[in-house]
Amino acid sequence: MDTVIKVKNLSVEFKTESGTFTAVENINFDLKRKKTLAIVGESGSGKSVTSLAIMRLLAQNGRITNGQVFLGDKELISMPEKKMQEEILGKEISMIFQEPMTALNPILRVGDQIMEGLRAHTKMPKEKAYEISLEILKKVGISSPEKRIKQYPHQLSGGMRQRVMIAMALVLKPKVMIADEPTTALDVTIEAQILRLLDDLKKELDTSILFITHDLNVVADIADDVIVMYCGQVIEKGNVVDIFENTKHPYTKGLISAMPKLDSDGGELMTIPGNVPSINKRPSGCYFHTRCSECMDICKTKAPEDTDINGHMVKCHLYNMKGDNSNA
Ligand code: SF4
Repeated sequence: MDTVIKVKNLSVEFKTESGTFTAVENINFDLKRKKTLAIVGESGSGKSVTSLAIMRLLAQNGRITNGQVFLGDKELISMPEKKMQEEILGKEISMIFQEPMTALNPILRVGDQIMEGLRAHTKMPKEKAYEISLEILKKVGISSPEKRIKQYPHQLSGGMRQRVMIAMALVLKPKVMIADEPTTALDVTIEAQILRLLDDLKKELDTSILFITHDLNVVADIADDVIVMYCGQVIEKGNVVDIFENTKHPYTKGLISAMPKLDSDGGELMTIPGNVPSINKRPSGCYFHTRCSECMDICKTKAPEDTDINGHMVKCHLYNMKGDNSNA
């Protein structure tokens, strides 16, 4: 299986008024060709920081302190800034966000915005860029594309604006699209349409998707592979079937128990007690021990190592101590 992005030992820290803290800690994962890898976790887990670090778009107080990110044979962290801007961002790696209005320019027509990115990277004539922009709007399912291409973002519905964002992200046929909670602001019907669209386009355009979400129902719908993050660490990693059917980590089990089910009788959902500790208040030992129903003495003082069980990785003492304990 081809690997499109390889993240190796990536760590990120942030400087705040109360000190410097690690937001992402030594994480490793691969994004495979034509596959969707979901990064899942609660707010504060480090999932968005990870995606921004890959693109080197961290906020000013953020810094990559260790690690490498390979896009094929190109290493992105050490790449000169100019080369990154000209050759990678928008062209080989593109991004779509939760709220298109923050990414779309309100005073530019939709067509001009798509053409702008296209021409910046290819220098193609305006007529050709217009033709390709119209084509991509059709591909993302925009109705009446000849009319929409001349409209401004505020004249479009939320679902249509998200389709425009996807068109902008895919017009240069990037190898990778990073989607950060792209459907969270949409209603469930439009969300299902957008998820199906992303899945179809991924296969058609030979793109791989890194999908950031807190929603495990979305993960079940769209992901091939999953990493679960907690307090800046990858605590479980595997293919989507293993993650849901052979769940190992107590945190992932908690997230799955908290999923609203379509056939639910409206009864109370299970929840994980407490909250993700803030970046400057991470506990000793296993970061999850303050919320874990299976916490043992060792968990309070010693950080668990990664344990690989037939390609399914888990960071938890239950497995460090017992090897593969499927019933743990
Ligand atoms: Fe729970 Fe201990 Fe495993 Fe952490 S290491 S998840 S506290 S059992």
